[in-house]
Amino acid sequence: MIMEKRFPRTSKQSRDMWLAAAREILTSSIEHYQLQGHFGPDKEELYTDVAYFGAAVPEKRKNLKKVLTIRSGTHGAEETAGCGIEIDMMDLMAKAQNRFFDPCAPSNDNLSEDAKAIIKFIQHQHILEHDYNGDIGIVMIRAVNPWGAAHITRDDHDFIDNNRCYLPHDPVTGKFYHQLLPLPLESYDKYPHLGGLLVPNSLDDATLDRRHTRLRKILNAEVRADLMRGQYDDPLKIIWGGDGISWSFRTTEKILDPIYANTALAYDNDLHSGLKRKDKPTGSVQMLLLAEEDGPIHQKIRRDLQECPMEDGGKAADIHSLFGTKSVSTWVEGSAEGWLRHKYANSGKTIVPCGIEMGPKDGVELIDLLDAKGLRTAARLLGDTHPKTAEIKQRLHDYFCPDDLEFERNAKADMRRIFRYQLYALAA
Ligand SMILES: [Zn+2]
Repeated sequence: MIMEKRFPRTSKQSRDMWLAAAREILTSSIEHYQLQGHFGPDKEELYTDVAYFGAAVPEKRKNLKKVLTIRSGTHGAEETAGCGIEIDMMDLMAKAQNRFFDPCAPSNDNLSEDAKAIIKFIQHQHILEHDYNGDIGIVMIRAVNPWGAAHITRDDHDFIDNNRCYLPHDPVTGKFYHQLLPLPLESYDKYPHLGGLLVPNSLDDATLDRRHTRLRKILNAEVRADLMRGQYDDPLKIIWGGDGISWSFRTTEKILDPIYANTALAYDNDLHSGLKRKDKPTGSVQMLLLAEEDGPIHQKIRRDLQECPMEDGGKAADIHSLFGTKSVSTWVEGSAEGWLRHKYANSGKTIVPCGIEMGPKDGVELIDLLDAKGLRTAARLLGDTHPKTAEIKQRLHDYFCPDDLEFERNAKADMRRIFRYQLYALAA
Protein backbone atom coordinates (compact mmCIF):
# COMPACT_ATOMS: atom_id res chain seq x y z
CA MET A 1 0.00 0.00 0.00
CA ILE A 2 1.47 3.32 -1.02
CA MET A 3 0.80 6.19 1.36
CA GLU A 4 -0.89 9.12 -0.26
CA LYS A 5 1.22 12.24 0.05
CA ARG A 6 -0.78 15.41 0.75
CA PHE A 7 -0.04 18.80 -0.81
CA PRO A 8 2.03 21.22 1.28
CA ARG A 9 0.05 23.77 3.28
CA THR A 10 2.55 26.64 3.56
CA SER A 11 5.29 27.92 1.29
CA LYS A 12 7.96 26.94 3.85
CA GLN A 13 6.60 23.42 3.97
CA SER A 14 6.35 23.36 0.20
CA ARG A 15 10.01 24.32 -0.20
CA ASP A 16 11.14 21.65 2.29
CA MET A 17 9.04 18.92 0.68
CA TRP A 18 10.01 19.99 -2.83
CA LEU A 19 13.75 20.03 -2.11
CA ALA A 20 13.51 16.64 -0.39
CA ALA A 21 11.67 15.18 -3.41
CA ALA A 22 14.23 16.64 -5.84
CA ARG A 23 17.17 15.32 -3.78
CA GLU A 24 15.56 11.89 -3.67
CA ILE A 25 16.41 11.64 -7.38
CA LEU A 26 20.11 10.92 -7.38
CA THR A 27 20.87 12.37 -10.80
CA SER A 28 19.11 15.69 -10.26
CA SER A 29 20.82 19.05 -10.33
CA ILE A 30 19.26 21.76 -8.16
CA GLU A 31 19.80 25.53 -8.38
CA HIS A 32 18.50 28.42 -6.29
CA TYR A 33 17.69 32.04 -7.14
CA GLN A 34 17.37 34.17 -4.02
CA LEU A 35 15.03 37.14 -3.94
CA GLN A 36 17.52 39.49 -2.26
CA GLY A 37 16.36 41.93 0.37
CA HIS A 38 12.96 40.32 0.96
CA PHE A 39 11.85 37.77 3.52
CA GLY A 40 8.92 35.55 4.42
CA PRO A 41 6.60 36.05 7.42
CA ASP A 42 9.06 34.20 9.69
CA LYS A 43 12.00 36.20 8.33
CA GLU A 44 13.00 33.26 6.16
CA GLU A 45 14.95 33.86 2.96
CA LEU A 46 12.97 33.55 -0.25
CA TYR A 47 13.98 31.52 -3.28
CA THR A 48 12.88 30.33 -6.65
CA ASP A 49 14.26 26.80 -6.93
CA VAL A 50 14.97 24.82 -10.09
CA ALA A 51 15.50 21.07 -10.47
CA TYR A 52 16.98 19.65 -13.67
CA PHE A 53 16.77 16.01 -14.76
CA GLY A 54 18.06 14.00 -17.72
CA ALA A 55 19.83 15.92 -20.47
CA ALA A 56 18.97 19.16 -18.66
CA VAL A 57 21.69 18.70 -16.02
CA PRO A 58 24.60 21.11 -16.65
CA GLU A 59 27.12 18.70 -18.16
CA LYS A 60 24.55 17.34 -20.65
CA ARG A 61 22.60 20.46 -21.58
CA LYS A 62 24.25 20.67 -24.99
CA ASN A 63 22.37 17.45 -25.87
CA LEU A 64 19.01 18.86 -24.83
CA LYS A 65 16.56 18.71 -27.75
CA LYS A 66 13.27 17.87 -26.08
CA VAL A 67 12.14 19.20 -22.76
CA LEU A 68 9.25 19.18 -20.36
CA THR A 69 9.17 22.30 -18.18
CA ILE A 70 6.86 22.72 -15.20
CA ARG A 71 6.51 25.96 -13.20
CA SER A 72 4.61 26.71 -9.99
CA GLY A 73 3.75 29.92 -8.16
CA THR A 74 3.64 32.53 -10.92
CA HIS A 75 0.70 33.64 -8.83
CA GLY A 76 2.24 33.37 -5.39
CA ALA A 77 -0.82 32.13 -3.52
CA GLU A 78 -1.26 29.29 -6.03
CA GLU A 79 2.22 27.95 -5.33
CA THR A 80 1.40 25.22 -2.81
CA ALA A 81 -1.06 23.55 -5.21
CA GLY A 82 1.41 23.71 -8.11
CA CYS A 83 4.22 22.53 -5.87
CA GLY A 84 2.09 19.54 -4.80
CA ILE A 85 1.87 18.53 -8.46
CA GLU A 86 5.64 18.92 -8.99
CA ILE A 87 6.32 16.81 -5.91
CA ASP A 88 3.93 14.12 -7.16
CA MET A 89 5.76 14.01 -10.48
CA MET A 90 9.17 13.83 -8.74
CA ASP A 91 7.90 10.99 -6.55
CA LEU A 92 7.00 9.04 -9.70
CA MET A 93 10.44 9.84 -11.11
CA ALA A 94 12.11 8.61 -7.91
CA LYS A 95 10.20 5.34 -8.24
CA ALA A 96 11.32 5.08 -11.86
CA GLN A 97 14.93 5.55 -10.83
CA ASN A 98 14.78 2.60 -8.48
CA ARG A 99 15.71 -0.15 -10.95
CA PHE A 100 13.90 -2.75 -8.88
CA PHE A 101 10.64 -0.83 -8.92
CA ASP A 102 8.18 -2.53 -11.22
CA PRO A 103 5.06 -0.37 -11.73
CA CYS A 104 3.16 -3.47 -12.88
CA ALA A 105 3.84 -5.49 -9.72
CA PRO A 106 0.59 -6.44 -7.94
CA SER A 107 1.67 -4.48 -4.86
CA ASN A 108 1.52 -1.31 -6.98
CA ASP A 109 -1.99 -1.92 -8.21
CA ASN A 110 -3.26 1.31 -6.75
CA LEU A 111 -1.02 3.35 -9.06
CA SER A 112 -3.08 4.82 -11.88
CA GLU A 113 -2.41 3.78 -15.47
CA ASP A 114 -0.99 7.25 -16.08
CA ALA A 115 1.41 6.97 -13.14
CA LYS A 116 2.57 3.56 -14.35
CA ALA A 117 3.03 4.88 -17.88
CA ILE A 118 5.15 7.83 -16.64
CA ILE A 119 7.34 5.48 -14.60
CA LYS A 120 7.73 3.06 -17.51
CA PHE A 121 8.55 5.89 -19.88
CA ILE A 122 11.32 7.22 -17.65
CA GLN A 123 12.71 3.74 -17.11
CA HIS A 124 12.63 2.82 -20.81
CA GLN A 125 14.21 6.09 -21.89
CA HIS A 126 16.84 5.81 -19.11
CA ILE A 127 16.37 9.55 -18.44
CA LEU A 128 17.49 9.42 -14.82
CA GLU A 129 20.46 7.11 -15.19
CA HIS A 130 23.98 8.39 -14.53
CA ASP A 131 25.20 7.58 -18.03
CA TYR A 132 22.13 8.93 -19.83
CA ASN A 133 23.11 9.97 -23.36
CA GLY A 134 19.74 10.91 -24.76
CA ASP A 135 18.31 14.33 -25.55
CA ILE A 136 15.26 14.55 -23.27
CA GLY A 137 15.21 16.79 -20.20
CA ILE A 138 12.74 17.62 -17.45
CA VAL A 139 12.92 20.94 -15.61
CA MET A 140 10.83 21.95 -12.59
CA ILE A 141 10.70 25.49 -11.28
CA ARG A 142 9.26 26.10 -7.82
CA ALA A 143 7.88 29.45 -6.64
CA VAL A 144 8.33 31.73 -9.62
CA ASN A 145 7.02 34.44 -7.28
CA PRO A 146 8.44 33.44 -3.88
CA TRP A 147 7.30 36.59 -2.04
CA GLY A 148 3.69 36.08 -3.08
CA ALA A 149 3.91 32.41 -2.14
CA ALA A 150 5.23 33.22 1.34
CA HIS A 151 2.77 36.07 1.94
CA ILE A 152 -0.21 34.42 0.21
CA THR A 153 -0.91 37.00 -2.46
CA ARG A 154 -1.21 36.67 -6.21
CA ASP A 155 1.14 39.57 -6.82
CA ASP A 156 4.79 40.04 -5.87
CA HIS A 157 6.89 42.25 -3.55
CA ASP A 158 6.57 45.11 -6.06
CA PHE A 159 2.75 44.74 -6.31
CA ILE A 160 3.09 43.22 -9.77
CA ASP A 161 0.75 40.52 -10.99
CA ASN A 162 3.30 38.40 -12.82
CA ASN A 163 0.76 36.88 -15.13
CA ARG A 164 0.23 40.31 -16.71
CA CYS A 165 3.85 41.44 -16.99
CA TYR A 166 5.55 39.14 -19.52
CA LEU A 167 5.40 41.88 -22.14
CA PRO A 168 7.81 43.30 -24.73
CA HIS A 169 10.33 45.59 -23.04
CA ASP A 170 13.50 47.58 -23.53
CA PRO A 171 16.32 45.12 -22.83
CA VAL A 172 18.40 47.74 -21.00
CA THR A 173 15.83 49.54 -18.85
CA GLY A 174 13.33 46.67 -18.61
CA LYS A 175 10.50 49.16 -19.27
CA PHE A 176 7.56 48.03 -21.41
CA TYR A 177 7.22 49.08 -25.02
CA HIS A 178 3.51 49.62 -24.80
CA GLN A 179 3.31 50.72 -28.39
CA LEU A 180 4.75 47.39 -29.51
CA LEU A 181 2.19 45.26 -27.78
CA PRO A 182 0.48 42.91 -30.18
CA LEU A 183 -2.98 43.87 -28.92
CA PRO A 184 -4.17 47.26 -27.74
CA LEU A 185 -4.27 47.68 -23.99
CA GLU A 186 -7.73 49.09 -24.22
CA SER A 187 -8.58 48.77 -20.58
CA TYR A 188 -5.99 50.84 -18.72
CA ASP A 189 -8.34 53.33 -17.20
CA LYS A 190 -11.68 51.66 -17.62
CA TYR A 191 -12.51 51.22 -13.99
CA PRO A 192 -11.04 53.97 -11.83
CA HIS A 193 -14.25 53.69 -9.75
CA LEU A 194 -12.89 50.48 -8.29
CA GLY A 195 -9.69 52.10 -7.09
CA GLY A 196 -11.08 53.73 -3.97
CA LEU A 197 -12.96 50.64 -2.95
CA LEU A 198 -9.92 48.46 -3.13
CA VAL A 199 -7.98 50.07 -0.36
CA PRO A 200 -10.15 50.15 2.73
CA ASN A 201 -9.59 53.30 4.80
CA SER A 202 -10.20 51.31 7.95
CA LEU A 203 -10.01 47.64 8.80
CA ASP A 204 -12.86 47.53 11.27
CA ASP A 205 -15.56 44.94 10.59
CA ALA A 206 -18.28 47.42 9.68
CA THR A 207 -16.09 49.13 7.05
CA LEU A 208 -15.01 45.82 5.58
CA ASP A 209 -18.57 44.51 5.43
CA ARG A 210 -19.77 47.69 3.71
CA ARG A 211 -16.95 47.47 1.23
CA HIS A 212 -17.65 43.80 0.55
CA THR A 213 -21.33 44.56 -0.19
CA ARG A 214 -20.42 47.40 -2.54
CA LEU A 215 -17.85 45.30 -4.36
CA ARG A 216 -20.36 42.51 -4.76
CA LYS A 217 -22.82 44.96 -6.30
CA ILE A 218 -20.45 46.23 -8.95
CA LEU A 219 -19.01 42.83 -9.76
CA ASN A 220 -20.88 42.54 -13.05
CA ALA A 221 -19.80 40.85 -16.25
CA GLU A 222 -18.04 43.97 -17.51
CA VAL A 223 -15.94 44.36 -14.38
CA ARG A 224 -15.15 40.63 -14.43
CA ALA A 225 -13.96 40.95 -18.02
CA ASP A 226 -11.81 43.96 -17.07
CA LEU A 227 -10.27 42.03 -14.22
CA MET A 228 -8.97 39.48 -16.69
CA ARG A 229 -7.03 42.13 -18.56
CA GLY A 230 -4.70 43.93 -16.20
CA GLN A 231 -3.72 47.54 -15.61
CA TYR A 232 -0.47 49.33 -16.10
CA ASP A 233 -0.76 52.82 -14.67
CA ASP A 234 -1.42 52.54 -10.94
CA PRO A 235 0.04 50.00 -8.52
CA LEU A 236 -2.91 50.36 -6.16
CA LYS A 237 -5.34 49.04 -8.74
CA ILE A 238 -6.60 45.48 -8.83
CA ILE A 239 -4.42 43.62 -11.29
CA TRP A 240 -1.37 45.74 -11.83
CA GLY A 241 0.94 44.37 -14.48
CA GLY A 242 3.80 46.72 -13.54
CA ASP A 243 5.49 49.27 -15.79
CA GLY A 244 8.40 47.02 -16.62
CA ILE A 245 9.45 43.43 -16.25
CA SER A 246 9.42 41.89 -12.80
CA TRP A 247 11.98 39.95 -10.77
CA SER A 248 10.04 36.77 -11.55
CA PHE A 249 10.10 37.52 -15.29
CA ARG A 250 13.88 38.10 -15.22
CA THR A 251 14.39 34.90 -13.27
CA THR A 252 12.15 32.83 -15.56
CA GLU A 253 14.07 34.21 -18.54
CA LYS A 254 17.43 33.37 -16.95
CA ILE A 255 16.28 29.79 -16.35
CA LEU A 256 14.41 29.07 -19.58
CA ASP A 257 16.60 30.82 -22.17
CA PRO A 258 19.53 28.38 -21.89
CA ILE A 259 17.15 25.43 -21.60
CA TYR A 260 15.42 26.28 -24.87
CA ALA A 261 18.63 27.35 -26.68
CA ASN A 262 19.09 24.02 -28.51
CA THR A 263 15.65 22.60 -27.90
CA ALA A 264 13.53 21.58 -30.88
CA LEU A 265 10.38 20.61 -28.95
CA ALA A 266 9.18 21.61 -25.51
CA TYR A 267 6.00 21.44 -23.49
CA ASP A 268 5.87 24.26 -20.95
CA ASN A 269 3.34 24.09 -18.12
CA ASP A 270 2.57 27.05 -15.87
CA LEU A 271 0.58 25.65 -12.94
CA HIS A 272 -2.27 27.73 -11.51
CA SER A 273 -5.25 27.07 -9.27
CA GLY A 274 -7.37 30.18 -9.70
CA LEU A 275 -9.91 29.24 -12.35
CA LYS A 276 -12.63 26.62 -12.32
CA ARG A 277 -15.34 25.65 -14.74
CA LYS A 278 -18.73 25.55 -13.08
CA ASP A 279 -19.67 22.07 -14.27
CA LYS A 280 -16.39 20.38 -13.32
CA PRO A 281 -15.34 18.89 -10.00
CA THR A 282 -12.87 20.67 -7.75
CA GLY A 283 -9.24 20.17 -8.78
CA SER A 284 -10.08 19.09 -12.33
CA VAL A 285 -7.68 20.62 -14.80
CA GLN A 286 -8.13 22.91 -17.74
CA MET A 287 -5.22 23.17 -20.10
CA LEU A 288 -5.31 26.60 -21.69
CA LEU A 289 -3.28 26.23 -24.81
CA LEU A 290 -1.67 29.38 -26.11
CA ALA A 291 -1.70 28.49 -29.75
CA GLU A 292 -4.04 29.33 -32.59
CA GLU A 293 -6.74 26.76 -33.21
CA ASP A 294 -5.92 24.83 -36.37
CA GLY A 295 -2.38 26.16 -36.26
CA PRO A 296 0.55 23.71 -36.27
CA ILE A 297 0.82 23.45 -32.47
CA HIS A 298 -2.84 22.60 -32.09
CA GLN A 299 -2.63 20.03 -34.85
CA LYS A 300 0.40 18.52 -33.19
CA ILE A 301 -1.41 18.24 -29.85
CA ARG A 302 -4.41 16.58 -31.50
CA ARG A 303 -2.08 14.13 -33.27
CA ASP A 304 -0.15 13.42 -30.08
CA LEU A 305 -3.35 12.75 -28.20
CA GLN A 306 -4.45 10.26 -30.81
CA GLU A 307 -1.10 8.54 -30.93
CA CYS A 308 -0.34 8.49 -27.24
CA PRO A 309 -0.92 4.97 -25.94
CA MET A 310 -3.74 5.56 -23.48
CA GLU A 311 -4.98 2.11 -22.61
CA ASP A 312 -7.45 3.46 -20.12
CA GLY A 313 -8.96 5.78 -22.70
CA GLY A 314 -9.88 9.41 -22.42
CA LYS A 315 -8.10 12.57 -23.32
CA ALA A 316 -5.59 14.59 -21.43
CA ALA A 317 -7.79 16.84 -19.32
CA ASP A 318 -9.88 19.55 -20.76
CA ILE A 319 -7.93 21.27 -23.49
CA HIS A 320 -9.01 24.48 -25.06
CA SER A 321 -7.32 27.14 -27.03
CA LEU A 322 -7.47 30.66 -25.69
CA PHE A 323 -7.52 31.79 -29.28
CA GLY A 324 -10.89 30.16 -29.75
CA THR A 325 -12.37 32.99 -27.70
CA LYS A 326 -12.71 36.69 -28.38
CA SER A 327 -11.47 37.71 -24.97
CA VAL A 328 -7.77 37.52 -25.79
CA SER A 329 -6.07 40.50 -24.23
CA THR A 330 -3.26 41.29 -21.83
CA TRP A 331 -4.19 38.43 -19.52
CA VAL A 332 -3.06 36.17 -22.35
CA GLU A 333 -0.40 38.32 -23.98
CA GLY A 334 1.08 39.35 -20.63
CA SER A 335 1.30 35.82 -19.27
CA ALA A 336 4.52 33.80 -19.29
CA GLU A 337 2.85 31.55 -21.83
CA GLY A 338 2.06 34.52 -24.08
CA TRP A 339 5.71 35.57 -23.85
CA LEU A 340 6.92 32.11 -24.90
CA ARG A 341 4.45 32.02 -27.77
CA HIS A 342 5.80 35.25 -29.22
CA LYS A 343 9.42 34.61 -28.41
CA TYR A 344 9.58 31.30 -30.28
CA ALA A 345 6.94 32.02 -32.95
CA ASN A 346 9.35 32.06 -35.91
CA SER A 347 12.28 30.25 -34.36
CA GLY A 348 11.85 26.87 -36.04
CA LYS A 349 11.33 25.40 -32.57
CA THR A 350 8.05 24.02 -31.30
CA ILE A 351 7.55 25.39 -27.79
CA VAL A 352 4.04 24.50 -26.64
CA PRO A 353 2.88 26.95 -23.93
CA CYS A 354 0.24 25.44 -21.65
CA GLY A 355 -1.48 27.46 -18.95
CA ILE A 356 -2.71 24.92 -16.46
CA GLU A 357 -5.65 25.69 -14.15
CA MET A 358 -6.53 23.24 -11.40
CA GLY A 359 -10.06 24.21 -10.40
CA PRO A 360 -10.07 25.69 -6.91
CA LYS A 361 -12.78 25.42 -4.31
CA ASP A 362 -16.42 25.50 -5.29
CA GLY A 363 -18.61 28.41 -4.42
CA VAL A 364 -15.96 31.08 -3.95
CA GLU A 365 -16.25 34.17 -6.05
CA LEU A 366 -13.79 36.47 -7.66
CA ILE A 367 -14.81 38.92 -4.96
CA ASP A 368 -12.39 37.18 -2.65
CA LEU A 369 -9.55 38.14 -4.92
CA LEU A 370 -10.62 41.77 -4.73
CA ASP A 371 -10.85 41.59 -0.98
CA ALA A 372 -7.44 40.09 -0.77
CA LYS A 373 -5.94 42.68 -3.08
CA GLY A 374 -7.36 45.54 -1.05
CA LEU A 375 -6.27 44.02 2.21
CA ARG A 376 -2.88 43.27 0.77
CA THR A 377 -2.57 46.99 0.19
CA ALA A 378 -3.90 47.72 3.65
CA ALA A 379 -1.52 45.17 5.12
CA ARG A 380 1.35 47.02 3.52
CA LEU A 381 0.18 50.25 5.11
CA LEU A 382 -0.66 48.81 8.51
CA GLY A 383 1.75 45.92 8.82
CA ASP A 384 1.27 42.24 8.14
CA THR A 385 0.41 41.44 11.75
CA HIS A 386 -3.09 42.92 11.69
CA PRO A 387 -5.53 40.09 12.59
CA LYS A 388 -7.94 40.96 9.78
CA THR A 389 -5.16 40.54 7.24
CA ALA A 390 -4.35 37.08 8.55
CA GLU A 391 -8.02 36.12 8.39
CA ILE A 392 -8.42 37.17 4.76
CA LYS A 393 -5.15 35.55 3.75
CA GLN A 394 -6.33 32.32 5.31
CA ARG A 395 -9.50 32.58 3.25
CA LEU A 396 -7.48 33.18 0.11
CA HIS A 397 -5.23 30.24 0.89
CA ASP A 398 -8.25 27.97 1.42
CA TYR A 399 -9.51 29.11 -1.93
CA PHE A 400 -6.34 28.56 -3.97
CA CYS A 401 -5.18 25.44 -2.21
CA PRO A 402 -8.09 23.94 -0.31
CA ASP A 403 -7.26 21.42 2.39
CA ASP A 404 -9.35 18.90 0.49
CA LEU A 405 -8.34 15.42 -0.57
CA GLU A 406 -10.74 15.44 -3.52
CA PHE A 407 -9.13 18.61 -4.89
CA GLU A 408 -5.68 17.05 -4.64
CA ARG A 409 -6.72 13.69 -6.09
CA ASN A 410 -8.47 15.21 -9.11
CA ALA A 411 -5.62 17.64 -9.78
CA LYS A 412 -3.00 14.89 -9.51
CA ALA A 413 -4.95 12.49 -11.74
CA ASP A 414 -5.44 15.07 -14.50
CA MET A 415 -1.85 16.31 -14.33
CA ARG A 416 -0.45 12.79 -14.52
CA ARG A 417 -2.51 12.32 -17.66
CA ILE A 418 -1.16 15.55 -19.16
CA PHE A 419 2.48 14.86 -18.27
CA ARG A 420 2.14 11.32 -19.56
CA TYR A 421 1.05 12.39 -23.00
CA GLN A 422 3.54 15.26 -23.12
CA LEU A 423 6.41 12.88 -22.33
CA TYR A 424 5.30 10.37 -24.95
CA ALA A 425 4.89 13.19 -27.46
CA LEU A 426 8.47 14.35 -26.78
CA ALA A 427 9.84 10.93 -27.63
CA ALA A 428 7.55 10.23 -30.61
ZN1 LIG B 1 -3.15 32.08 -11.34
